[in-house]
Amino acid sequence: MPQLKSPMDILRLLDHSNCRQCNEPSCMAFAAQVFKGKKKLSDCPKLDPYVIEQYGEGVESGDRPPTSEEAVEAYVKSLKQEVRKIDLPAVAEKLGGVYQYGRLTLKVLGKAFSVYPDGTLSAEIHTNPWVSVPVLTYITKGAGRNITGKWLPFRELKQGSAWSGLFRQRCEKPLKQIADNDYDLFVDLLDVFNGRPVEHLDADIARVFYVLPKVAIMVCYWRAEVDFDSNLNIFFDEAANDNLDIASINALGSGLARMFEKLAVKHSTGQPFAVSL
Ligand code: SF4
Repeated sequence: MPQLKSPMDILRLLDHSNCRQCNEPSCMAFAAQVFKGKKKLSDCPKLDPYVIEQYGEGVESGDRPPTSEEAVEAYVKSLKQEVRKIDLPAVAEKLGGVYQYGRLTLKVLGKAFSVYPDGTLSAEIHTNPWVSVPVLTYITKGAGRNITGKWLPFRELKQGSAWSGLFRQRCEKPLKQIADNDYDLFVDLLDVFNGRPVEHLDADIARVFYVLPKVAIMVCYWRAEVDFDSNLNIFFDEAANDNLDIASINALGSGLARMFEKLAVKHSTGQPFAVSL
């Protein structure tokens, strides 16, 4: 695990926005508190989960730590090395994918995403680390458990309670904001990814997505009423517990929210939707 030996090493990982969401007056103050052991890296909701995973929560002596981009890159590299040890044709069916033309292909939010035996990735659309890491984790660590039909809120997933604040902040809140601002646009965005409409309680809209073949999520949104604020919750099929780790589930949710935000901005400037993952 890379090591952090000074507050400056910690500060280098942060986004320098001084947004105060960690309840500290600045990123520098937060870095100092982490260095003293009074805060954890995960107390910063803007820090990438993969960076947290790379560093853990402790501060130790050592060489200059890599930047957050380097940490994610190193993690992707280690997952690709794990892929090389896996018999992809043998696990294709278990993962809900297909092995053809010398590569394993999985559907990620309905888009084809392929992995070659040497760990090389290719996709029909542009991809980002927020999707590469979960896909590689699904292949290397997932149990391939079938979809159960039982839905759980994020906090009830394994280790979900520890990550639920981050997930609420980085996924559910931004998506709710988009829906609050422009409900019709939000519905259009859900349609871009072929969400399957479902009846869920009294939600105004509920759609199921397969973020991976055996990782299903249900996005539910309730519009504001006279005495109630609007609300948005995301539920997970219970199989997600065994098919993906909590960091990857959180990253997929955060990435999805970022992508929706980008598409909403494009819409507001009259640009066509150009989907990337
Ligand atoms: S929440 Fe993160 S980005 Fe915001 S001030 Fe704290 S450390 Fe900086």
